[in-house]
Amino acid sequence: MQIVTIIIKFASYKTTYSNFIKKIKVIRNFYFVISLNIIRQKKKHAIYLNMKNIFTFVIILFLINYSCNSQNSSIKNKIYKIEKTDAEWKKQLTPLEYNVLREAGTERAFSSELNQNKRKGIYTCKACETPLYKSEHKYNSGSGWPSFDRAIKENVELDIDYKIGYARTELKCNTCGSHLGHSFDDGPQETTGKRHCINGVALKFIPYKVTK
Ligand SMILES: [Zn+2]
Repeated sequence: MQIVTIIIKFASYKTTYSNFIKKIKVIRNFYFVISLNIIRQKKKHAIYLNMKNIFTFVIILFLINYSCNSQNSSIKNKIYKIEKTDAEWKKQLTPLEYNVLREAGTERAFSSELNQNKRKGIYTCKACETPLYKSEHKYNSGSGWPSFDRAIKENVELDIDYKIGYARTELKCNTCGSHLGHSFDDGPQETTGKRHCINGVALKFIPYKVTK
């Protein structure tokens, strides 16, 4: 009789044990599902954060673009001493001159004979003949474009352009607003440190009169 009781107890114990194992498995599965969900949630959250970053980035780009456009438009609205219609400029200038001066184009490097010009004189604006640069400030930068370390200050306007994606200092004739070139900070250190990189086609060279 005692043996039967022991067997019954053992059987019930086994059942309890297997139930216990089952419970453990259920709990383990439950935690597994929960942690999986947490990982998913984290991923979702990460994606959400990424989306948030992209959204912020787009907004910043939009603001930069807006501020650039507003900057450009404020300068575009500037009224110069000499104002002409596009038709008038086209009539006065060659197609290359028009492209560089009025459409801010760039001539081919080493294409201008003024690049190697070492004569003494004044460089004026091809469009309106305002004196812009002096030969004593010209130097050989090796860039392929006539280069000066400074302009005749009040006659050249500094503007900012974003044509190639980042800010550059654009140089314009202050009398007619024509595009001349750009200013860079890799000029001669012994003088101004500036390099006014100018399209030769935007300039007219007038030699100093030789006095005997
Ligand atoms: Zn001009």
